[in-house]
Amino acid sequence: MSKLNDKRIIPIACPLIGDEEIKAVIRVLKSGMLAQGKEVEMFEKEFAEYIGVDYAVAVCNGTVALDLALKCLEIRPGDEVITTPFTFIASANCILFQGARPVFADINERTFNIDPDSILEKITDRTKAIIPVHLYGHPAEMSAIMEIAEDHKLYVIEDCAQAHGAEYRGKKVGSIGTAGCFSFYPTKNMTTGEGGMITTNDRKIYNKAKLLRDHGQTRKYHHEILGYNYRMTNIAAAMGRVQLKKLEMWLKIRERNAKILINEIRKIRGLIPPYVEPHVRHAWHQFVIRVTNEFPLTRDELAHALENHGIQTAIHYPKPIHLQPLYQNLGYDKNECPAAIKVSKEVLSLPVHPAVSLDDIKYMVKTLRELATGK
Ligand SMILES: *Cc1c(COP(=O)(O)O)cnc(C)c1O
Repeated sequence: MSKLNDKRIIPIACPLIGDEEIKAVIRVLKSGMLAQGKEVEMFEKEFAEYIGVDYAVAVCNGTVALDLALKCLEIRPGDEVITTPFTFIASANCILFQGARPVFADINERTFNIDPDSILEKITDRTKAIIPVHLYGHPAEMSAIMEIAEDHKLYVIEDCAQAHGAEYRGKKVGSIGTAGCFSFYPTKNMTTGEGGMITTNDRKIYNKAKLLRDHGQTRKYHHEILGYNYRMTNIAAAMGRVQLKKLEMWLKIRERNAKILINEIRKIRGLIPPYVEPHVRHAWHQFVIRVTNEFPLTRDELAHALENHGIQTAIHYPKPIHLQPLYQNLGYDKNECPAAIKVSKEVLSLPVHPAVSLDDIKYMVKTLRELATGK
């Protein structure tokens, strides 16, 4: 291993901000129109067109996008909403925000996504909606989920926070369910610093989301309903418009990196590379391997060893949501969703983002091979 390699650090995430983003932000700053305005409107139009929906509503983060979508659908106390426990906490907390009850369905351990058979088992006469999460950028099994939703008259809110540009049977995620919710946090596939977006083909949801986003005003200082300030700034939107133009290029680099890693990791005993369903386009937000008992190091030892070699890793997610103190205090059963619990002990995310070069990939593979053979 060369000296250079010893000093190299490959971060697990890296927002890519170029001169174009900087120029766009400066243009807005100089205009004096900083809060929600024309830039936000343009970003919404361009994002809706990219996803292939009629409408998009920009908001201040992805958590708020989920919250607003559920408010538009009038999810309220007494209602149940089914989601996965193997995701970021916001996917379930948005249900608690409404005073409704999150009900957890287990996952398919190959794709890490919610298992449609488990959804069916969890449906009651109080169930109002399903929130599938396209985890790590791999689309959830939307055909089966939409069929269940139609049979039981349920709404489907897609959590697309990790899946900008991912496709399911040729359709972009965020265009399949009742509504889609995106995040533009700095670690996501594109960023506005903080930001979020709701996508939908339903004009009623669109109108209501716009109303709720801005104090329930139908015109200035005329408030029809209880609304919020969930607006995006023109500064954030200007960044987002530039990032959206670069997204396809970045997705291609993520895919290139992922394909090489899969082919190499497949040959290492004890490591399971991510699985990709043949009918999806993966957005490769995270590249997540499973470390099994057949590998000479535990998952945590491997993470530590990689860190010592300058390769940053992360665990998405070390604890399923129903095991979090917040949910344990609400009385959730520690033993439900065994697949999610099992997988949370095996997963390890490796760098795959567009700033990871072919040289970095070679170095990562070489390091993994050495650790596997104890050299
Ligand atoms: C990031 C994320 C969110 C929340 O988005 P924020 O913009 O951070 O509020 C929601 N769901 C999932 C799956 C996420 O990864």
